[in-house]
Amino acid sequence: MYKADVIRIHKHGGPEEMLFEQMDLPAPGAGQVRLRQTAVGLNFIDVYTRTGLYPGPTPAVLGVEAAGVVEALGDGVTSINVGDRVVYNGLGGAYASHRNAPADRLVRIPDAISDEDAAAVFLKGLTVWMLTFEIRRIQPGETILVWAAAGGVGSILVPWANAQGARVIGVVSTAEKAQLAMTYGCDATILASEDVAVRVRELTGGKGVPVVYDSVGKTSAEPSLKSLQPRGWFITYGNASGPADPIAPARLNQGGSLVMTRPGLFHFTKTREELERGSAALWGAMRSGAVKADVRQRFALKDAAAAHRALEARETIGATVLRP
Ligand code: NDP
Repeated sequence: MYKADVIRIHKHGGPEEMLFEQMDLPAPGAGQVRLRQTAVGLNFIDVYTRTGLYPGPTPAVLGVEAAGVVEALGDGVTSINVGDRVVYNGLGGAYASHRNAPADRLVRIPDAISDEDAAAVFLKGLTVWMLTFEIRRIQPGETILVWAAAGGVGSILVPWANAQGARVIGVVSTAEKAQLAMTYGCDATILASEDVAVRVRELTGGKGVPVVYDSVGKTSAEPSLKSLQPRGWFITYGNASGPADPIAPARLNQGGSLVMTRPGLFHFTKTREELERGSAALWGAMRSGAVKADVRQRFALKDAAAAHRALEARETIGATVLRP
């Protein structure tokens, strides 16, 4: 029987629940392939899965994104060959040296992109595609507000929105992160410790912004709403500080007929056509130079708990990759 190294939790909780274990890996079933994984993407969603904020059964191998090489094909697989380099997201069980995965959720990595870069950008880049193409298109010349602008998603959202013609105001927690956010393409930054809505009004001549990309949740929702122009879009897509409190419909009316949405990427890449459309947009943005992978932290797979501690302590910048 094939063996895989994995990071598994047996109950929800802190990083100490993440155990480095060996598991038997059966031969790939019909429609599946076996992957030797070369780089695993670290995402904040992995923290939510670990703590149980996003409920799921245990025991569970953590992680939803990785790149690797196809080692073996199950029955009926014709879309992928042994030796192909592929990447996926949205498949639980990614914190592993080897795994079986459904062939129809895998995307080939373009030759010019390394496995590590693919694992660093695939989930986060598709998230930015969802935010700026599928939910609401960026209008050239508009000024947008982006929370956690020096983080993993921020490192892609800021330059890609820039390339689509937006001026970006980024919110970050430290001066060092502010500097990095400027190199990603922010026009201005605000410290999270400041009164964000007041600073946004100052930076926009009192007008506010037409759209806020808010991944912080609990502590940022109200400042985000206060930063919007009438008919502005509150796109609340994450919970880094905890889930946002309930918002009454009347609050949206008071803000000026605001639009609120709480999207999840996996609803936008359900079909093969959607997955390929988003991937093509992301690879195209990388080919043009608009988006670059920015891997700033690397951890051995067995040290994934240390990666979680760093992510939750706001100590990471750009993207983080685990190495099986
Ligand atoms: P990041 O690298 O952006 O890390 C999270 C960042 O959030 C931190 O670096 C920190 O930046 C900021 N933050 C603010 N308050 C807190 C807090 N209390 N604790 C920890 N961090 C805080 O992570 P990812 O790029 O992996 O993900 C970014 C966000 O996008 C996450 O909220 C994630 O859930 C969301 N997401 C949502 C998706 C969807 O489909 N809806 C898909 C992908 C990601 P700073 O110190 O500068 O404030």
